[in-house]
Amino acid sequence: MHTLIHLLDNNKVWSNAINASDPEFFRKLAEQQHPEYLWIGCSDSRVPANQITGLAPGEIFVHRNVANIVAETDFNVLTVIQYAVDVLKVRHIIICGHYGCGGVQAALENFRHGMIDNWLAGIRSLSRLHRKELDALPPDAAVDRLCELNVLAQARHVARTTILEDAWERGQLISIHSWIYRLETGIITPLAPCMQKPLHFSTIDGRPPADDFPDSH
Ligand SMILES: [Zn+2]
Repeated sequence: MHTLIHLLDNNKVWSNAINASDPEFFRKLAEQQHPEYLWIGCSDSRVPANQITGLAPGEIFVHRNVANIVAETDFNVLTVIQYAVDVLKVRHIIICGHYGCGGVQAALENFRHGMIDNWLAGIRSLSRLHRKELDALPPDAAVDRLCELNVLAQARHVARTTILEDAWERGQLISIHSWIYRLETGIITPLAPCMQKPLHFSTIDGRPPADDFPDSH
C-alpha cells in the first residue's frame, strides 16, 4: 500500500531532527511566513534554491520553471511575483539560471522538441539577437553564454512588470539580482549589479534597455 516509503521515512527523520534542535520551529513557521527573498530559478533538479543558498523553510519564496523564464503573459509567474511583492513584501528578487541549462540548449537546437519549443520562443529570439556573438563560440560555450544572456533578459522582464514599477513608484525597497549557478562547482556568480529602480531610469549593463529583447517572451 505504502509507496515511496523511503521518502516518507526521510521526512520523519528530518522533522524529528529539527524538532530536537528547536521544538517551536514548526509551530512558529505554521503561523506565518516572512521570507525576505523571492527566487525565480530553473526546474532543474540540481539547482534547489534553499539548499544552495543555505536557507531554512520560511526564508525564501520560490518559483521555478524550465529555463527560469519570466514571460509577461505567464499568469503563474506574475501571480507569484505579485504575491511576493505586494503581500509578503520581499526585499530581494533573485533570477538564478545555471550553466548547461537543457532548456537554453534546446532553444539553440534546430529541431523540434515538442511543446517546450513554444515555451522557449523568447530564448530563441534572444539567441537570434546575439547570433553574431554566439556563432563565434564553441557549442558548449554558446549555450553557457546564452544562459547568462537569458538571466539578464529575464531580470529585465521582472523590472518591467507593472508590479515592480508600481512597487518602486510607491517607494518600496526591492532589488532584482541576476545570478548564475555552475553545476560543476556549486558556486553562484552575480552577472550584473542589482536593479533597484525602473529601467527607464537606469540599465543593469550600461546598454539602452528598450530594444535588447524586442519580441520579449
Ligand atoms: Zn535549466
